[in-house]
Amino acid sequence: VPNAGLEPFLTQIREGGDGIEIVTGEASAERYRDPFALVGASRAPAGVRPAAAGDVQRIVAAANRFGVPLWPISRGENLGYGGAAPFDETSVTLDLSRMNRILEVNAEDAFCSVEPGVSFEDMFEHIDSHDLPLWLSVPGYGAGSMMANALERGVGNALYGDHSSQICGMEVILGDGELVRTGMGSIPESGMWHRQKASLGPRFDELFLQSSFGVVTKMGLWLMPAPAASAAFDIALEERDALGGLVEVLKSLKRAGIIQDAPVISSFLTIAALRSKRSDWAEPGAPLTEDVAARICAEMGCGWWNARLRLYGMPDMVETSIGHVEDALALLQGCSFSISRWRQGDAMALAHRGVPSRVGLGNVRWCGASGAHIDYSVCIPVSGAEAVRQMLRTQEALSQLGLDYHSTFYLRERHMLNVMQILFDQDDGELCAAVDALIPALIADAAARGFGLYRSPLRYREIAMRQMTFGNDALARLHGRLKRALDPNEILSPGKDGF
Ligand SMILES: Cc1cc2nc3c(=O)[nH]c(=O)nc-3n(C[C@H](O)[C@H](O)[C@H](O)COP(=O)(O)OP(=O)(O)OC[C@H]3O[C@@H](n4cnc5c(N)ncnc54)[C@H](O)[C@@H]3O)c2cc1C
Repeated sequence: VPNAGLEPFLTQIREGGDGIEIVTGEASAERYRDPFALVGASRAPAGVRPAAAGDVQRIVAAANRFGVPLWPISRGENLGYGGAAPFDETSVTLDLSRMNRILEVNAEDAFCSVEPGVSFEDMFEHIDSHDLPLWLSVPGYGAGSMMANALERGVGNALYGDHSSQICGMEVILGDGELVRTGMGSIPESGMWHRQKASLGPRFDELFLQSSFGVVTKMGLWLMPAPAASAAFDIALEERDALGGLVEVLKSLKRAGIIQDAPVISSFLTIAALRSKRSDWAEPGAPLTEDVAARICAEMGCGWWNARLRLYGMPDMVETSIGHVEDALALLQGCSFSISRWRQGDAMALAHRGVPSRVGLGNVRWCGASGAHIDYSVCIPVSGAEAVRQMLRTQEALSQLGLDYHSTFYLRERHMLNVMQILFDQDDGELCAAVDALIPALIADAAARGFGLYRSPLRYREIAMRQMTFGNDALARLHGRLKRALDPNEILSPGKDGF
């Protein structure tokens, strides 16, 4: 049902000056959609594109006046989790991509301040062109926004790869239009805003993560100071079921402080899908048997599981750590590895820093020209047995639908994140419907074991949030109370909260 307030809202924005661009009609439907939609893709009726925080305040005020819901996006590259599409077709996209200034990069104290439209690629280019001693952590797709990725608790695979943990201070426009600076930003002109995470009292940054309480217009993020030396182990495990042993070894290395970052373990398909098509290996509908998997691994020169871990520090520290990792990996059967080293002065192309890339996007061609992926991302304990159980349950569930197992584990301090990119053919309606039923089943299965999602495609947010029932839905009710206080007209991101 079209929103009756839409036209007066757009008229007010149009009449307010030239700062804000407006996108309507086909252009809006085409731009603000989910190109990887499984079923029932929603598109935005219009988009508004502010150039500055003042414009955002004006938009939020008009939205409150005319009862028009807004769906903020930074760059709209949320592929696998809903893309640039709003949850429902009454929401106008608040497209922040024109606000793309790098406001500050402080090399000495290793932090930056960015607007929503700054991508990982932009920051990488800035650091390189200014020859700054800073390293980035990047997600598997570099075109996204540094800010939005951190807001969605996105991950990269370097030392600072838990991106939301690097947030230090924000500027936010609440649903009721008030502009707030969190943390030390609350002291006018404070140089501590992006240096000190908490001020007195609660730390509010977390309130705006994966939430619908505000529109973030500035964010401080910590960056990794360039180390004197680094090294990487590229590890290949021959056997599928050897996963548990590797997890236990990496866990003990992490507990001993030898590995600082979150090692990443990925199934062979994460490599094969980038370099080949499914039809190169199997007839349509035929399963990828273990024999086929072995043939793929042999031809690709990879393991069933492939892991990468990195070491950073002074050269002698890195060498000592290399020795410990070698000793530990020697305990694993069917495990081979190579080591690469970098020292200050060596070519930067060899450094173990994050380099943004769009190459990962190519994996959707695994399923043909209309391939896409949707992500199921769950957190489990750091345990070899649990990792194997998780793998067996999900691989079996996928194979029943004729789907292949494309899976990555990130080993964090006390939990592991398992991201499964489910690769599917968008033209296969029957399969899409089956995947649409599978994800809720996986969510329920995980919840029955006490596990929840780290992040969810929009379509399943409600189902995932509804598993959180303790105390007669006390958390949902707290969430609702906060929402009513900060966004009383429920203008921001309707449907995102899932409640
Ligand atoms: C091949 C491939 C590999 C990928 N690998 C990874 C990976 O390794 N790690 C990873 O994390 N992701 C990965 N992704 C998923 C995704 O591309 C990234 O997370 C990307 O950074 C998200 O897009 P974006 O930054 O443009 O966010 P947007 O689409 O702009 O925003 C995402 C959501 O965040 C909220 N939001 C955004 N900006 C604001 C704001 N300013 N204020 C309030 N709310 C806001 C909105 O709800 C919005 O819908 C991958 C995707 C692909 C295709």
